[in-house]
Amino acid sequence: MFGRLIFGSLCLCFLLAVLDACNAKRGDSASSTSSPASDAPFMSAVASTPPRTADDAPPPEATGGFDGKKAFAHVAKQVSFGPRPSGSQAIVQTQDYLQSELKSYGCTVETDSFTADTPIGRLPMKNILVKIPGDKPGVILLGTHYDTLLKENFVGADDAGSSTAVMLELARLLCSEHGKYAVWIAFFDGEEAVKQWSDTDSRYGSRQMAAKLATSGELPRVKAFLLADIVGSHPLSIKRDSFSTKALTDLVWKTAARLGYQDIFVNEESGGSQDDHQSFLKRGVPALDVITDFSANGYWHTPGDTLDKVSAKSLAIVGHVFLESVKQLQAK
Ligand SMILES: [Zn+2]
Repeated sequence: MFGRLIFGSLCLCFLLAVLDACNAKRGDSASSTSSPASDAPFMSAVASTPPRTADDAPPPEATGGFDGKKAFAHVAKQVSFGPRPSGSQAIVQTQDYLQSELKSYGCTVETDSFTADTPIGRLPMKNILVKIPGDKPGVILLGTHYDTLLKENFVGADDAGSSTAVMLELARLLCSEHGKYAVWIAFFDGEEAVKQWSDTDSRYGSRQMAAKLATSGELPRVKAFLLADIVGSHPLSIKRDSFSTKALTDLVWKTAARLGYQDIFVNEESGGSQDDHQSFLKRGVPALDVITDFSANGYWHTPGDTLDKVSAKSLAIVGHVFLESVKQLQAK
């Protein structure tokens, strides 16, 4: 457990009892700055050499239509922009890419640009929200963060290029559908702490969206929030997040087992992750974080979080489980 914790830094830290150990590591990155996009180690590699892990994607018909190769290409594209912390030029490129992809799928896209007060000053941030209408007022919310940790040479292929790619591919499939309930897909800015993870220095985008929905009176419409974060690694192992709403966890894990992914969505509890689901849980919205056992992967929040760590097959499996879980929620 300690080994798992010592790697912990900004975005997701277990157990308050060992917060000091986490803070020590968090302090390491406090003085880091982002690199310009031209410093991205994978820019030339992406252009010239096909990443080997793109080849392990199952055919889309085996994963409910979800195309792991397309999702992998979205990870590669994000990585090609370089480090993408909130307020950077590269995150603006990422926002433009997300919006142009979503519009090309025919999605209705809303954006919320806001300014966040952070320990290093005020930063511009932007949430991007896809809204797919339904017949009833209820909303099934899916989400990811798309900013990357503020750390030199950190390109965040897995954290959170992977889940951002999964949400893009889900939007391609879901934007042409019309269900009983609306489906919203949120791309949050500012999940990562700028200096040190705390309730006020983290989750800027999801806190903004949850607060806005509460103010407008729409928050009770959200029946379930399914969050993905760090889901591209191979081999993939996802434990039940102990902070998440049990009924939602049961639904998703049962779905995964039915699809034959019981070795990936394993029936073990994690210690609980601090992540964007907290912004909704704190306001009483049922929420679930689908997140790999990141502290065991050896590259979490290090410059080693590069494209070669991401598997198209892992993306496709998570995408398949999300697609089928949305169907289950639509049937309720
Ligand atoms: Zn992170």
